[in-house]
Amino acid sequence: MPSNVDPVQSDPALPAEADVVVIGGGIAGIAAAYHLARKGLSVAVLEKGRIAAEQSSRNWGWCRQQNRDERELPLARYSLDLWGRLAEEIGADLGFRRTGLLYVTDRPADLEAWERWSELARSYQVESRMLTAQEAQAMTPGCARPWIGGAHSPTDGRAEPSMAVPALAEAARRLGVTIHQGCAVRTLERTGGTLSGVVTEAGRIRAGAVLCAGGAWTSLFLRHHGIALPQAGVRSTVFATTAAPAVTEGGLSTPNYVMRRRLDGGYTVAIRGRGTIELTPQGFRYAREFLPMFLKRREAGVKVRMGRSFLSGPEALARWTPDGISPFERTRVLDPGPDMATVNEALSMLVESYPALSGIGMAHAWGGWIDNTPDAVPVISPVAALPGLFLSTGFSGHGFGVGPGAGRLAADLIAGDAPVVDPAPFRFSRFNDGSDLRPAAM
Ligand SMILES: Cc1cc2nc3c(=O)[nH]c(=O)nc-3n(C[C@H](O)[C@H](O)[C@H](O)COP(=O)(O)OP(=O)(O)OC[C@H]3O[C@@H](n4cnc5c(N)ncnc54)[C@H](O)[C@@H]3O)c2cc1C
Repeated sequence: MPSNVDPVQSDPALPAEADVVVIGGGIAGIAAAYHLARKGLSVAVLEKGRIAAEQSSRNWGWCRQQNRDERELPLARYSLDLWGRLAEEIGADLGFRRTGLLYVTDRPADLEAWERWSELARSYQVESRMLTAQEAQAMTPGCARPWIGGAHSPTDGRAEPSMAVPALAEAARRLGVTIHQGCAVRTLERTGGTLSGVVTEAGRIRAGAVLCAGGAWTSLFLRHHGIALPQAGVRSTVFATTAAPAVTEGGLSTPNYVMRRRLDGGYTVAIRGRGTIELTPQGFRYAREFLPMFLKRREAGVKVRMGRSFLSGPEALARWTPDGISPFERTRVLDPGPDMATVNEALSMLVESYPALSGIGMAHAWGGWIDNTPDAVPVISPVAALPGLFLSTGFSGHGFGVGPGAGRLAADLIAGDAPVVDPAPFRFSRFNDGSDLRPAAM
C-alpha cells in the first residue's frame, strides 16, 4: 500500500435491494455513488478489498487538464471545477490544492507538442500558457538544469490520493449510501434476460441498475458474462520522499522525472512513461487492439516481460460460479511491488537537478497496475447488450483527476438525466463500431 490510506467505515448488513449497485470502491465507483445519492437514489457499493486500496490511492495525485486528449477536455474541465468546490460541499478536506501544474523541457519536440495542445485547449476555455526558457527557469527556482521552455496550467492542481476517495466515501455514506468492504461481487444476476442484481460473496442484492467500476478487474468480470472489453495493464512505480524544502508547490514534470508536493511536506515522485507490461492471457486476447499503444509506450521506455500476472490477478485465465470463490476474493488488493531500480534512478536524477534536495530520501515506494483502453480514453457508458448494466472504467492512467466528473456523468446516465458533458467519446460501442482506436498524439 502507498501509505496509510484513510479508513472508511463499512456497513454491517447487505441491503436486500438497492436502486443501484456499484461494483468497486475506487474513485470511479465512489464518485458515482456520491452523485447518485445526491439524486435521491439508494446505492450500495461493493468493494472486494478496501476503499481506494488499488489505483485510486497509488497515483501521483495530479488533477490535470493539461495535455489531455481532446475527447476528455470537457470532462476534465468540469472535474477541476468540482475538485475546487467538493471540500466545501462535503465538509472535509480531500487534499485538493489549485497549485497549477508546470511542464518544463530541454526537448524541442515537447515544446512543439505543447504549443499545438495549448491552441486546442483555448477552444475548450482551458487555461494553458507556453513558457519561454527564462520563464521556465524562473518557475523552477533552485533547479540546476537548463530548460528551453515549458507550459503552465494555472487552473490545474493536486490532491492527496490517500485522503480524497475515503473522504468522498464517508460523504456518500452520510447521504445514505451503504459501503461493504471485503465483499466481492461474483456475478451479475439476470431474470428472464434482464439484469436483476448481483451475487456477492455475502449474498444477493436485487437492483435494476449496476455500475461496474472495477478498475483493472472489469474486463475479467465482464468476460464471465460474455461481454468483451479490451483492457490491458501496465505496472508502474511511485515513491514518496521524506519531508524536504518546497521547490515546487504543485506538480512539476521534467523529461526525467515528475514530482508533486505532498501535504506531509515530501514529494510523490515517478518517471513518466516508465513501467512494465507483463505478458498475460488477457494481453494476448487484445494484442491487436493494443499494438499501437504498446509500440508507442515501448519507445517511451516501457519494458515487456513475463511475470506472476500470467497465472493470477485480473488478466489471468479464470473460471468461477456464483457459489464458489471468485478471482476477486483471491486478490483482495492488487498490490504489485515497486521496481526499486526505477526508484533509485528517479531519486538520483531529482537530487542532481535540485542541489537543495541533497538530503532527501525515499520514505516509501509502491507499485500500481494502470488499466488502459486501446485509445487511452475511459468507458463511461451503458452496455447495450445488457440493459441496466453501466461501466465506468479504463481510465488509462489519468482517472484520478477526472474522477469526480466521471462519477457525475455515470450518475446522470444511470438516472436518465441530461448528461453533464457529451458522453459520446466514452461510449462502450466504440470498440465495435469501426472507430479509430489509436491513442491521441500527446
Ligand atoms: C502509478 C499510478 C499513477 C497515476 N497517476 C495519476 C495522476 O497523477 N492523475 C490521475 O488523474 N490519474 C492517475 N492515475 C490513474 C488513476 O489512479 C486511475 O485512473 C483511477 O484511480 C481509476 O479509478 P477506478 O475507480 O477506475 O479504479 P480503482 O481505483 O483501481 O478501483 C477499482 C476497485 O474495484 C474493486 N473491484 C474490482 N472488481 C471487484 C469485484 N468483482 N467486486 C468488488 N470490488 C471489485 C477493486 O478492488 C478496486 O478497489 C495513476 C495510476 C497509477 C497506478
